[in-house]
Amino acid sequence: MDTLTALSQPATAGSPVISLSGIDLSLGRGAAKVHILKGIDLHVAPGETVGLIGPSGSGKSTLLMVMAGLERPDAGEVVVQGTSFNALDEDGLARFRGREIGIVFQSFHLIPTMTALENVAVPLELAGKKDAAERAARELQAVGLGERLHHYPAELSGGEQQRVALARALAPDPAILLADEPTGNLDEATGKQIADLLFDLHKARGTTLVLVTHDATLAQRCGRTVKLRSGHIDGA
Ligand code: ADP
Ligand code: MG
Repeated sequence: MDTLTALSQPATAGSPVISLSGIDLSLGRGAAKVHILKGIDLHVAPGETVGLIGPSGSGKSTLLMVMAGLERPDAGEVVVQGTSFNALDEDGLARFRGREIGIVFQSFHLIPTMTALENVAVPLELAGKKDAAERAARELQAVGLGERLHHYPAELSGGEQQRVALARALAPDPAILLADEPTGNLDEATGKQIADLLFDLHKARGTTLVLVTHDATLAQRCGRTVKLRSGHIDGA
């Protein structure tokens, strides 16, 4: 295998849970149009942890959005768990995402008018789970927030809000967790606790993890790191 192929392949065997092939994407219009992703090939094996690194503006967040089906590429194919996004309409994609893909962001993105329990339960209810509240409570216990079920986001610290966001992302038991700089808004000690929790949860559940980070120490905890540079995988 040459270096170019080796970089885009999972380190472990087995059919990939995420396959990106020939992904090209431009966003914006006219003079503001930016060619963001340029022929990305990336394959992630089940249970793998991939650290996605690269300079600011290199396309990391956009690539994560493509993996989540929140941005449609101009060219190329995204296949997750054997399902091609090209074959799904927007509703189908939303349902698929609800089942198979959890996402956490730097800025938590909790609904401010809902309690921790409600934030976690709502996606479960949308997915038709009858025991949504009980499951949400269990998920919050698993992230150490069993005593904060009825707190609103404004009544929680940044680290606690990110724990709620993690519980919400993992509650539907997705195959994949996508995390975009999940420790970026937290102080160092709290960021370390969230990172520890992220890797503990990965270990316990076997969820495939793609983690965007600026933090080299955090990236090194992943089984493999992939570096983006100006919309290319570096080295490819
Ligand atoms: P990163 O997460 O690596 O910092 P992003 O994926 O957020 O990078 O952005 C990559 C590039 O695409 C940046 O130059 C950014 O300004 C540009 N970009 C992101 N979203 C849009 C958009 N909706 N319209 C136009 N340009 C965008
Ligand atoms: Mg980003």
